Amino acid sequence: MSDLRELYQEVILDHYKKPHNCKKLDTANRVVTGNNPLCGDQLIVYLYVDGDVIRDISFQGKGCAISVASASMMTSAVKGKTRAEANALFERMHQMVRGELDPTTVDVDEFGELAALSGVSEFPVRVKCASLSWHTMHVGLEGKDETVSTE
Ligand code: ZN
Repeated sequence: MSDLRELYQEVILDHYKKPHNCKKLDTANRVVTGNNPLCGDQLIVYLYVDGDVIRDISFQGKGCAISVASASMMTSAVKGKTRAEANALFERMHQMVRGELDPTTVDVDEFGELAALSGVSEFPVRVKCASLSWHTMHVGLEGKDETVSTE
């Protein structure tokens, strides 16, 4: 278990240092800002939604390692997915970080690198850090340009 924990921390730090899709997206047709005042995380999520598919997605912002790593993984995970697929993953991810999933069901096959965020469930104040980019993406899919706050 401690080996797994170390691996998870490495994955998170790796994404924090070299976040994927961390840029402004010129083709974006949805731009949503997410704030987590509790920690000071601020993210802008750019979505290019074409019909029912997320053709492209990126983010910019500043925040703690968990929030940035989660945003990095989120953009990689939902790019190319349909709205329904992305929302389903959002639900599962939310259950995972809140510790609502049986740990034995949090497997790498389903979650890939996102499983690295499962340890967050032990730290309630970090749950909002991990879910911020997901909430922000979710609001973007609803078709609203607005600011999301976890408070
Ligand atoms: Zn944070």
